Amino acid sequence: MVLSSASARSATERGLSAGELAVTRHLLVHGPATRGDLGDRLNLSYASMSRLARALIHGGMASEDLEPASAVGRPRQILTAVPSARHVVGCKLTADTAYAVVCDMFGDVKSTAKAALPEPAADGMVPVTATAKVVAQLANKLARRVPSLDGIGVAVGGVVIDRSIVREGTFLGWRDVDFATPLQERTGLPVIVTNDVTALAREQLWFGAGRTHSTFGLITVGAGLGFGLVREGVAVEHLIDNGHLLAHAPIDNRGPRCRIGHAGCAAAYLNRDDIERHASAAAGRPVSFGDLIQARSAGDDVATGWLDAAARALGHLVATFAGALQTTCIVLAGEDVAALADSAPMNDVIADRLRPGLDETQRCTLDIITTPARGAAVVGIQNVLGAA
Ligand SMILES: [Zn+2]
Repeated sequence: MVLSSASARSATERGLSAGELAVTRHLLVHGPATRGDLGDRLNLSYASMSRLARALIHGGMASEDLEPASAVGRPRQILTAVPSARHVVGCKLTADTAYAVVCDMFGDVKSTAKAALPEPAADGMVPVTATAKVVAQLANKLARRVPSLDGIGVAVGGVVIDRSIVREGTFLGWRDVDFATPLQERTGLPVIVTNDVTALAREQLWFGAGRTHSTFGLITVGAGLGFGLVREGVAVEHLIDNGHLLAHAPIDNRGPRCRIGHAGCAAAYLNRDDIERHASAAAGRPVSFGDLIQARSAGDDVATGWLDAAARALGHLVATFAGALQTTCIVLAGEDVAALADSAPMNDVIADRLRPGLDETQRCTLDIITTPARGAAVVGIQNVLGAA
């Protein structure tokens, strides 16, 4: 199924040269700029910059306008990225649902759609071909809401290699599943598959924390803890430890046990499944994370205790991650983060971890940003533009 005639552009037309990509990326991330400024920032000669500007304008990726007349000197030409030059679909797969958005080149969401995924088979595996069909149908539906569709980004929980193969799809029961190829065959579009937290890190690199910090960490809190990071402007694609060294960092060895048996590790306090398991066991009835939030609002001390403990664990994770990465910037995301982040227990832990010693004068504050996720779409844009 080829989605539209416009999407049948050749790969060479879709991809940009390294120079074109550098200019486009700069315009997308930092906004409009003059040829002179771009040349200075990107270390390009006047001649190269003029050639790249012409190519981008000709290709519809950028437009150039005279800046309003200034008091001094001649008005200058300002180069601006054209948001509608490319559109991509970003799709996040959970255990049972595909959530899709279609975005322009700035990552602005133009339309959304979702669909149920097929039921898992007897072996616990969500059928791959049927899932590709669901995602292709969503892309097809969203393609009608934009002038043309240029690519698809898919984000899944778990380990993904080569930007196409789901080595361990945590929620889908997938092992070594190539998901990019069947989707590419169905849609005729370039497809990139990434881990959902890596996708978010790559999105933040262009459109979030990466604008002000070349190195930052990302923690997602919800059904499982996720970690992503950008070092010196490069998103790390694959974690060496699947996040275990951070998730299972000890906090209090008198604390509750995590699923794999540590007493009082960060996951034991912060993983939604673990919190629910401990709170339910203590209450003698099933207690969900949502129940705890509601009970806390009603002034329940026990619920407040569980959530404060989770918030303190998050504070420890933020402090440990920032210290190991030597960055002042940590980004927080995920379904459960709003209930825990920027709370007094979290902030107190971080302040205490940063407290200088008796003879020390150096002080540090952390820049902790909470963000919604739209990672899959932005990775799709980066892929379509040919960004590494
Ligand atoms: Zn643990």
